[in-house]
Amino acid sequence: MSKEIPYKIYLEESEMPKQWYNVRADMKNKPAPLLNPGTHEPMTVDELSGVFCRELAEQELDDKTPYIDIPEEILSFYKMYRPSPLVRAYCLEKALGTPAKIYYKFEGNNTSGSHKLNSAIAQAYYAKKQGLKGVTTETGAGQWGTALSMACAYLGLDCKVYMVKVSYEQKPFRREVMRTYGADVTPSPSNTTNVGRKILEEFPGTTGSLGCAISEAVEVAVSSEGYRYVLGSVLSQVLLHQSVIGLESMIACDKYGIKPDMIIGCAGGGSNLGGLISPFMGRKLRGEADYQFIAVEPASCPSLTRGVYAYDFCDTGKVCPLAKMYTLGSGFIPSANHAGGLRYHGMSSVVSQLYDDGLITARSVEQTSVFEAATQFARVEGILPAPESSHAIKVAMDEALKCKETGEEKTILFGLTGTGYFDMVAYQKFNDREMSDYIPSDEELAKSISTLPKF
Ligand SMILES: *Cc1c(COP(=O)(O)O)cnc(C)c1O
Repeated sequence: MSKEIPYKIYLEESEMPKQWYNVRADMKNKPAPLLNPGTHEPMTVDELSGVFCRELAEQELDDKTPYIDIPEEILSFYKMYRPSPLVRAYCLEKALGTPAKIYYKFEGNNTSGSHKLNSAIAQAYYAKKQGLKGVTTETGAGQWGTALSMACAYLGLDCKVYMVKVSYEQKPFRREVMRTYGADVTPSPSNTTNVGRKILEEFPGTTGSLGCAISEAVEVAVSSEGYRYVLGSVLSQVLLHQSVIGLESMIACDKYGIKPDMIIGCAGGGSNLGGLISPFMGRKLRGEADYQFIAVEPASCPSLTRGVYAYDFCDTGKVCPLAKMYTLGSGFIPSANHAGGLRYHGMSSVVSQLYDDGLITARSVEQTSVFEAATQFARVEGILPAPESSHAIKVAMDEALKCKETGEEKTILFGLTGTGYFDMVAYQKFNDREMSDYIPSDEELAKSISTLPKF
């Protein structure tokens, strides 16, 4: 088994996964069902199909089928930028002086700069197959909107993106990438929707939030003929599509006899973490192997480490189904934090259930320490990481340094979800020592948690 391990492991095209893996099939305690916000009854495929594409609604509610075929057209799109490399961080190990072996799965090698393209192409494909004209969505930091724009351009679908106003203004180049791919980008809240007008009236001058942009995108989808809404994280269908990350990683590890002791991912809505760990978790759930899984979140938006496990609204406008998840309350507005992709109040119901069952552990980290880790990583490994991804880097480095103390030769695998070229304002703040570490007080969290729906 002891093949020489290359710096970068790329699978052959013939070794790439042809099915996604649905971890819910192997979970004894299934994630709680989505509920209709009006009746509090479990959502049916028919109800969900008013908002989502039909096949995606089916995937959303399927907690039994372990493997789902990846359609041929998606496989060929994946081949444009996949397999993604599994990199042995030899240089980082040397810089840290650790006996640990560190690997990362790098998802930043596509124009959208993140893993989000894996689900964007799948969601656009099913919309096209259903004969729809287009899709609507929200984007916070901009990665999801970019990925969806690329996927829609490829398939010839119309794409309407509601972009959180503060990002629209601060990240003009993200916006232009989306427009270059043909998307129609509107800053949110906007006066193009009822919910947007209502929020603008109540909070004039607001710079927007993800929850608010979701409400606008959903309103446009359900009120426009031939449109559906798509979402880049949190949903179980997104975790399913992102399982391609974990499957490729597992095939590569098995090929070279690599056995990770711990698997680490940053957690915003939980999709990259869920996708990376899914097949490994499947082995753990079936009693075939054991791994330690660590979710890393920002101290400024600590859904797993300080939230509650309860049914909550997924959006500010309260138009989406209720989901049972670890949440800080849908009214929680995280402080200015530069990892925009990690600023969501809730968490995937799959990741939430696994965490509640003690199968995943979680840690929160402060952003200055995240940027210190990001900078050190960039200098030795070459890649300029996204702030979101750097949360995982930080904990991987902490764990590698623990191994240095104990002399343990642990194998650490983490998800490097993307690159940070559009986050240079954040890096600038860090370089100028102007970055702050805001941690919400217990009172603040209690206040937003007290607004959870009660029934
Ligand atoms: C969106 C994003 C994340 C967080 O989203 P998850 O659904 O939790 O994976 C992490 N990293 C990058 C680069 C992102 O764009």
